[in-house]
Amino acid sequence: MHARPPTIVRLEDDREFAVDAGDTLLSAALRAGVGFPHECCAGGCGACRFELLDGSVQDLWPDAPGLSARDRARGRKLACQSRPLEGCKVKVRTAAEYVPPVRPARRRLTLEGTTDLTGDLREFRFRASDPAHFRAGQFALLSLEGIDRPRAYSMSNLPNDDGSWQFIIRRVPGGRGSTFLFDGLRPGDSVNVDGPYGGAWFREESQRDIICIAGGSGLAPALSIARAASASGNVRRIHFFYGARTPADVCGEAQLAQLEGYPDRIAYRVAVSEPDAEWRGTTGFIHELVEAEFGSRLAEFDFYFAGPPPMVTAVQEMLAVRHLVPHGQIHFDRFF
Ligand SMILES: Cc1cc2nc3c(=O)[nH]c(=O)nc-3n(C[C@H](O)[C@H](O)[C@H](O)COP(=O)(O)OP(=O)(O)OC[C@H]3O[C@@H](n4cnc5c(N)ncnc54)[C@H](O)[C@@H]3O)c2cc1C
Repeated sequence: MHARPPTIVRLEDDREFAVDAGDTLLSAALRAGVGFPHECCAGGCGACRFELLDGSVQDLWPDAPGLSARDRARGRKLACQSRPLEGCKVKVRTAAEYVPPVRPARRRLTLEGTTDLTGDLREFRFRASDPAHFRAGQFALLSLEGIDRPRAYSMSNLPNDDGSWQFIIRRVPGGRGSTFLFDGLRPGDSVNVDGPYGGAWFREESQRDIICIAGGSGLAPALSIARAASASGNVRRIHFFYGARTPADVCGEAQLAQLEGYPDRIAYRVAVSEPDAEWRGTTGFIHELVEAEFGSRLAEFDFYFAGPPPMVTAVQEMLAVRHLVPHGQIHFDRFF
């Protein structure tokens, strides 16, 4: 039997890339080093919208929230949810900022162990047989048994030659992917992973101090960034802000406390949005605490933030609209 030859996708400027059977248009473009616009790779954000000028694609998630009714009426599609069925020509505005710093690749990871951080946040430690090349702050797509589409999870560790991939995952009530990871996966079991993806990676060369803002499982990429900044020769201050829903959800300081520079140049602050009667710390949303602490100085920092979309939108609005922080200093992931 012969393997199906790859399908060729052509851009308007006549650049071409090959798509292997089973691959999405977005992943194949990024594997080929094409700067295809993207953000979440999970159907949620709509950044990878394109127009199909010729050919046909299979739509892997027809109801994906990343497309509006208007987009659909105009025939727009999501590259992260499109699998070419034949040679295609597509219209999209590619850009250098989307060229992946490390081209995504597929590999198999074996679970070595887990540690519970809170009642619903768990660190998962996997091992691959080749070096783990990614940038701090990026994520990977995990394919999980019995679940139709991969789920995105951010690495919490640093890139390394030992093949170590670590994630911090929240158990989502009723969530299929996270429930499988928590209840269905045992040390020694393997999963397929595809990555790295994402543009909110650590910019080492910048001289600015750093503000990391994490909500819930947004802890994973924020820790990776803090670890990279701490290990970097370029000494900068790191202000780490964690937004927890209840006092029982507070976490992250123990991991920061292990880093070179803590507490002198690495500071941890937390705000709880649903306090109980015993809570004596800061109450409210985490972006309010950031604004209260730095207000008019916000444009002096580089920002890395991740978490639920409403939190990310509130932080973006605070930084870009109210405090005019330049676009190039703002890096974020929305966890759809
Ligand atoms: C860039 C990024 C990074 C993330 N990093 C983390 C992290 O570090 N830790 C963490 O805990 N969570 C992270 N998430 C969230 C994570 O990917 C899952 O959304 C979350 O674990 C819930 O998944 P679930 O399968 O348990 O829930 P479900 O409710 O079963 O699924 C939720 C998600 O799966 C996707 N989905 C659902 N149905 C379909 C479908 N038919 N076709 C395609 N996709 C579908 C959607 O993205 C949806 O939001 C991240 C998300 C993104 C986008």
